[in-house]
Amino acid sequence: MKKVALVFVLAVFVPSLVLAWLAVRSLRDQQLVLERQRSLLYQAVADSVAKEAANLLAEHQREFARQVEALFADHKPIDIAGSFDGRLRKDWPLADVGFTVSLDGQVYSPNLFDRPEARRFRLDNDKFLCSRESVEVYWNSPKGTINLSQLDEKDGVQSANASANSSTYVKTSKDNKLLRNVEPQQVQQRMEQQVYSKVAPSEAEFRQLIGDSTEGTLARFLQNKLNLMFWYRSPRDPQIVFGALIALPKLVEDLGRLVKVDSESLHNEICVALLDDTGRVAARTTPAFQTNWKRPFVATEVGEALPHWEIAVYLIDPARLSQSAQTLKFTLGLLIAVLVLAIGVGGGLIVMDLKRQLILARQKTDFVSNVSHELKTPLTSIRMFSELLAEGRVLDKEKQRSYLNIITAETARLTRLINNVLDFSRIERGEKKYTFAKCDLVGVVRETVETYRPHLEANGFKLECDLADSPLLVNGDRDALAQIVVNLLSNAEKYSTDRKEVRVEARQLSQPLPHVEVSVLDRGLGVPQGCEEKIFEQFYRAHDSLSSGIQGSGLGLTLARQIARAHGGDVVCEPREGGGSCFRLRLPSAPTLATNGHE
Ligand code: ADP
Repeated sequence: MKKVALVFVLAVFVPSLVLAWLAVRSLRDQQLVLERQRSLLYQAVADSVAKEAANLLAEHQREFARQVEALFADHKPIDIAGSFDGRLRKDWPLADVGFTVSLDGQVYSPNLFDRPEARRFRLDNDKFLCSRESVEVYWNSPKGTINLSQLDEKDGVQSANASANSSTYVKTSKDNKLLRNVEPQQVQQRMEQQVYSKVAPSEAEFRQLIGDSTEGTLARFLQNKLNLMFWYRSPRDPQIVFGALIALPKLVEDLGRLVKVDSESLHNEICVALLDDTGRVAARTTPAFQTNWKRPFVATEVGEALPHWEIAVYLIDPARLSQSAQTLKFTLGLLIAVLVLAIGVGGGLIVMDLKRQLILARQKTDFVSNVSHELKTPLTSIRMFSELLAEGRVLDKEKQRSYLNIITAETARLTRLINNVLDFSRIERGEKKYTFAKCDLVGVVRETVETYRPHLEANGFKLECDLADSPLLVNGDRDALAQIVVNLLSNAEKYSTDRKEVRVEARQLSQPLPHVEVSVLDRGLGVPQGCEEKIFEQFYRAHDSLSSGIQGSGLGLTLARQIARAHGGDVVCEPREGGGSCFRLRLPSAPTLATNGHE
């Protein structure tokens, strides 16, 4: 049995637990994949808006060049150098200030005394534009990024004074790494704890920046305020550089139009926002949405032209992402738990059934040996006494009668046993037939007891009868009912030792329903406590042959109960006061039953 349980645990239960564990693990991986897919999708949205923003800036840059060339249609570059600020602002509203500077360091426009903005521009930028000072800039050239740090080393540019004006962004190392304005929750390949900006400032003079290029964008921070400039050199006069300080509010207006979510399905899921270099929201898709803007789900930097500006994506309902994963996890977890439980319960039931089958198989083996023994004992007596009589060696009449009585009793015992076995197999196969008829149970009991009396008394038993005087009518099969009484009497005889007293009672009772009760009482071994019900199970023996030396098949009471139940009654066992046992056969009185019928 232990072996079966062990096999079950090793072959079914443990593998199913392992499978369940693997399923939970793959579920977790699945959840990570889902989250990753989501973050990739949102990152793609941020990247595409950032790209459009960079394209728009490039388009404005080209537009500026066209504006400058348009001015040269009627004039030489040098002719309009002084009035460039006014002319440009008139035709191109995106310019805040238009400036002109020659490569040899002469500023033509704007006029220092024209207007406050022009004056401020000149004060802030003159030294830089005349290449008398190197400043910290974010530089973007259409021909590609120049590595300004290399330039610095080569030209030995001294930049200590220039950085005084520069941005307040935290430099973290010598190689000019800057922390980003935001801390996205999902960062691709995050190698370090902190998130660094991909744009890095470098210090250079204006002439170094221009190099051989004809146009470009440069961004610098002055008093923590971004100054974005476009510049252009016409092939007609490459010595003069025309430039524009961009009006940021107008630019932001243009950029704001790009901040949108194209996909209808994503519209309710995310909010896309344009953050300026101070981390403030310049434009967003969901106006009512509020959150910690420094902690987007994903974000992309716009680029060198707008350093530290970010396109950030926020989850409108952050719980939703984890919620659906949680629901999936919970459902699958529940399913796995139910499956494991089902396997456990199923296994338990199988083990229990197996145990029952094993017990039954053992009982059947015992039954065969018990029955063989029970057949052999009477047969031996019958043979021995009949041989003695046949040989004519016993001449004493009294002895002859006694031997014949023994032979009759043993034959009756054999018949009883064979009847029991045959009836049991008939009942098991569902072939047992009863012939129901109204009969007097007192008559049946009296007849049976009187048949059995000589045998009992011959074996030293005192048999008492207390039977009702009037007939007790039941609807039943006389022979089957007699078999119950015989079995009970036979047990009373078998399980009695010193006090050989048997009492049989038959009476009419009215509670709870009118019924007839036949009791067989003895002063024998008694039924062990706790076995009062078990003794009615097939093959079960409370006193086995080995320990008690009493032969039996374990079928007598099983049959008695089956027959009684087929009659709508029952047989029960009760302990008897003063020692011994009491078996009661209860049957419904005849008037309450149908008058005939066959089963
Ligand atoms: P068996 O052939 O073993 O007597 P039964 O089905 O008639 O089979 O009885 C089942 C068991 O019930 C017996 O083995 C015995 O242990 C117990 N039993 C039956 N009748 C009595 C009794 N009168 N006194 C004590 N034990 C009894």
